[in-house]
Amino acid sequence: MSERPPKNICLMGSTGSIGRQAIDVITGSRNFRIVSMSAHSNTSLFTKQIKKIKPETACITNSEAFKKYGRTTAGPTKIFPPEKLSALCSDKKIDIVLAGSSGSSALIPILDALSKGKTVAIANKEPIVMAGDILCAAAKKHGGKILPVDSEHSAVFQCIENSKAPAEKIYITASGGAILGAGRKKISPEFILAHPVWKMGKKITVDSSTGMNKGLEVIEAHHLFAMDFSKIKVLLHPKALIHGMVEFADGSVSAYLSAPDMRIPISYALNYPQKMKMRNFMDFSNMNLTLEKYPAEKFICFKLALEAGKKGGLYPASLVGANETAVSAFLAKRIPFARIAHIIKKTLSETPDMRYNIPNVLRIEKWAKEYAEKLIK
Ligand code: NDP
Ligand code: MG
Repeated sequence: MSERPPKNICLMGSTGSIGRQAIDVITGSRNFRIVSMSAHSNTSLFTKQIKKIKPETACITNSEAFKKYGRTTAGPTKIFPPEKLSALCSDKKIDIVLAGSSGSSALIPILDALSKGKTVAIANKEPIVMAGDILCAAAKKHGGKILPVDSEHSAVFQCIENSKAPAEKIYITASGGAILGAGRKKISPEFILAHPVWKMGKKITVDSSTGMNKGLEVIEAHHLFAMDFSKIKVLLHPKALIHGMVEFADGSVSAYLSAPDMRIPISYALNYPQKMKMRNFMDFSNMNLTLEKYPAEKFICFKLALEAGKKGGLYPASLVGANETAVSAFLAKRIPFARIAHIIKKTLSETPDMRYNIPNVLRIEKWAKEYAEKLIK
């Protein structure tokens, strides 16, 4: 039997938590080849990755780091500056773009790739939150495909894919982040980063504790599954084994379970619609699964995200910008944990009214970062 040629992957954010796990999945399979990859500022890890993987092209997305790197080749790999990222993602050779960078900077590369009809496996949630309508419309118009990597969305996607009936309601689960059991402890970055279930990048770990991550995920689900906000429910599930559920017209519910290991949704998005052999088997003989009401009252950022998502337009971009600045300030110990929500709330309330399009989405996100920074100073 003749083997299929490997799929060519462009991996954005190779040095991050998602990127490193994606490399694990990809290098463990003959079905894929990383043709291009990007990192932002961690050039020492990036150099090691390039040496091992030998992609054809690589991009350093931080201009300072690119200048400091000072070379345009590393072995057989050509190294490009930030402005080349879109071209690398949209290159005709690429079959799948895996968006694993953090923040909003991959928005244009993702949009360009979808506009070229590419498949984008998307972990990077900020671009969907900010411009989900535009990205989904571009995919539809040009035959591109958005495959979710975020574990809850991968779960819901698979429940929907496996049923021929439309979803009536979807549920995503939340493990609760670090602060649920914190009591009156001082909430420091060190405390928050010791997240109980998932090992992730710093920003998303803080987002999980403020409730922002779940709020962003509800907006993400709204776009990915074209589902009204009233039909997207969040449940508290500290064990993080059930990631998503879908309810159908007859009241039956499909649930998706897996170990809390991001390599599973990463590998599913890359292998879709197939599943790749992995060693992640669950032991059901002593499993106590609890699902509870999500305590939204404890998570002000969750509520702020939901409000911004429901208002739509440029509010989600303002939310993403303000949150990014507030979370960086918290991690740098410039503000206490409780101020994150205040800064986002104030920024949202002052968000200028403009038309919803890509230039304005980017403009408002930048404005929100600057406005939030002024509130911090
Ligand atoms: P990390 O902080 O671990 O990694 C971020 C990656 O993006 C690194 O490669 C980093 O490069 C790069 N990066 C940082 N800033 C920029 C920038 N301004 N422009 C371009 N690239 C940048 O994050 P995670 O891997 O945890 O998360 C990545 C994305 O995936 C986020 O959007 C997150 O919400 C989402 N996600 C993550 C999950 C997880 O388990 N980690 C689960 C579900 C979703 P460098 O290190 O070289 O500076
Ligand atoms: Mg998630």
